[in-house]
Amino acid sequence: MKLLIVDDEVEICDFLKSFFEERDYEVVTANSGEAALEIVKKIRPQVVLLDIKMPGMNGVRVLEEIKQKFPRIKVIMVTAIETRDKIEECLRLGADNYITKPLSLEYLENDVREKIEGLKNTLLS
Ligand SMILES: [Mg+2]
Repeated sequence: MKLLIVDDEVEICDFLKSFFEERDYEVVTANSGEAALEIVKKIRPQVVLLDIKMPGMNGVRVLEEIKQKFPRIKVIMVTAIETRDKIEECLRLGADNYITKPLSLEYLENDVREKIEGLKNTLLS
């Protein structure tokens, strides 16, 4: 199970990385949208946790690119205080869910697991 965590805040990436690694996920992190897209092409993660607000290429643009090229990758947006408009834009662009900071890790893990289970069911059916 490959998970890509994207956030411009290195501490958030490190924190989430150890949380998910302890739960046997294979985790890769990226600190910018540009780096995230490179990694997506290379490793094809099943799920991406994607921060919306990043300098340079923001999460909305990264989401758009991922969904255009790799529509089967599940993308969960991570937002601080964002407007409803921005969240709706992400959902319209194909985001599979969103979660707001401060993060509830339990909720987040359930959601990641659910997305991966969903993918397995698609493969089996
Ligand atoms: Mg950010």
